Amino acid sequence: MGMHVVVCDHKSGMLTSSSLEALSFADDLARKGGKDLVALVPDGLQDKSLHAYNLRSVYTFPAAGDNARVEEYLAAMTALAGKSTPERIIFSYNSLGKALGGQLAIRLNAGLVSNVCGFEWAEGKALYKKSVFSGKAYAWCAIHSEIGLVAILPKAYGVKQGQDPNSPEYIELGPLTIDARMQVVEHRMSSGKTPLTEADVVVSGGRGLKDPANWGLVESLAELLHAGTACSRPVADAGWRPHHEHVGQTGTAIRPKVYIAIGISGAIQHLAGVNNSRTIIVINKDPEAPFFKAADYGVCGDLFEVVPKLIQAIQNGQ
Ligand SMILES: Cc1cc2nc3c(=O)[nH]c(=O)nc-3n(C[C@H](O)[C@H](O)[C@H](O)COP(=O)(O)OP(=O)(O)OC[C@H]3O[C@@H](n4cnc5c(N)ncnc54)[C@H](O)[C@@H]3O)c2cc1C
Repeated sequence: MGMHVVVCDHKSGMLTSSSLEALSFADDLARKGGKDLVALVPDGLQDKSLHAYNLRSVYTFPAAGDNARVEEYLAAMTALAGKSTPERIIFSYNSLGKALGGQLAIRLNAGLVSNVCGFEWAEGKALYKKSVFSGKAYAWCAIHSEIGLVAILPKAYGVKQGQDPNSPEYIELGPLTIDARMQVVEHRMSSGKTPLTEADVVVSGGRGLKDPANWGLVESLAELLHAGTACSRPVADAGWRPHHEHVGQTGTAIRPKVYIAIGISGAIQHLAGVNNSRTIIVINKDPEAPFFKAADYGVCGDLFEVVPKLIQAIQNGQ
């Protein structure tokens, strides 16, 4: 009987929220199908919250740096697949998962369903609900290959809590055979910042900011709200902000609890990456700006007046 494997990562020893989501999904799927569930995680995990997810074992593997690299995950997963038969391998479809998914699919001859946000059980098999067309529709997919990869859309499934912790067995994998055809020359961490796809609140700026020198408004508001920062594509194209902050159809797709759009028109390509946010707040001086149609709350006004007042009000605890 094939087991299910959930691939996790951690930051400074604590599981990332996308790993907790993958664990939640994997736990539900394994319970429904009556399968054993094991986790694969790089060395250095201190967080015991994964014990609440009905895991039989936790496989650990050595990672050279603070963050395990894709090749290390790949080697670890291949080693694990050589020991026992994984039936489903579940992971977050974050930047790591995107790099891992395709390579694992080739290596293990496995079918891959990406952007998964749920599943249903039909005739003894899982049907995976997949977000398509930039979140405008869903498709239902079955996996027919022996091994199947299920990549979870970040912030789509949610984290389930509160089960009795169990005591999984910890097993060290290694030494690993790393594919040395690719070499990481430099690994730069954006220190202290929550990755955009994991931020609950995102403050985003567009061309209405007029000049990169005005970006301090976005950053001050984001800092007060413990939020991530994002931008529209022209802002990144103009070099005002790094490209990893660009959200939309051709950038990152995000689903924060709150998305605050400042001086962004709300073009369809921008909305494609943010329209699944739970609450959208728009600040724009043009009452005809298309973003107002997608907004839960809108402030029609000059951002250079509205945002400083908002910052002041938050600082005053109003
Ligand atoms: C194939 C393709 C893919 C694309 N992918 C993306 C994508 O992934 N992400 C993306 O963002 N775009 C994408 N675009 C570009 C997209 O079509 C828009 O051009 C872009 O989103 C507009 O950016 P913006 O809203 O910052 O700028 P603008 O359209 O210039 O809008 C600026 C807004 O700021 C407001 N404003 C100006 N001054 C003030 C002020 N003082 N106070 C308040 N409001 C003010 C204006 O009213 C206006 O609504 C794509 C386009 C194409 C063709």
